[in-house]
Amino acid sequence: MVSASEYFGNVWKTLSTTWGGMKITGKYFLQKPIPVQYPDERLPIPDRYRGIHYLEQEKCINCLACARACPIDCIEMDAIRHGKELEWVTFTLDYQKCMFCELCVYPCPKDCIHMGTEYALVTYDRSELNYDLLSFKGMSRDARIRKKEAEEKKAAKDAAKATKAAKAAPAEEAPAEEEKGEEG
Ligand code: SF4
Ligand code: SF4
Repeated sequence: MVSASEYFGNVWKTLSTTWGGMKITGKYFLQKPIPVQYPDERLPIPDRYRGIHYLEQEKCINCLACARACPIDCIEMDAIRHGKELEWVTFTLDYQKCMFCELCVYPCPKDCIHMGTEYALVTYDRSELNYDLLSFKGMSRDARIRKKEAEEKKAAKDAAKATKAAKAAPAEEAPAEEEKGEEG
């Protein structure tokens, strides 16, 4: 059997806690609503947010350090090397597996892979979650120019070497011919 004081104590507790909760509800109820019209509007993203990666491809040297650091092998890349220049084939990151841990970012020697502020990964097709991070395939325009310059420089060097060798050849042959004459 509940005593009268306990009964009224419970009633008071119920009313006071309800009043406390309703005070907070009332405060927000009277405020102007602030809906965000996503996706046209977005809430500000903190600087250190770990969103979808982006790659500064021009700086990347295909060293694989990011791929090796990834604990679940999300990153795959392939590029053909032409001397110092790279011809990019692929650089993908699979968001079906990625856990946004950022471990791939720290070992990059060129500081060229980053986690951005984009977070929308909505799709009807899971295969679309294997993102291509390349902004271009093949070689960049600058790399092509540098490659051409390097090839021209090498060709000029080879030609100069060949000319020098050709000039040196008769001088080396001459003593041999002189020796022949003396014998005769
Ligand atoms: S964020 Fe983590 S899981 Fe995702 S690719 Fe980088 S290392 Fe791998
Ligand atoms: S660690 Fe950096 S430089 Fe090396 S492959 Fe990855 S993104 Fe490129």
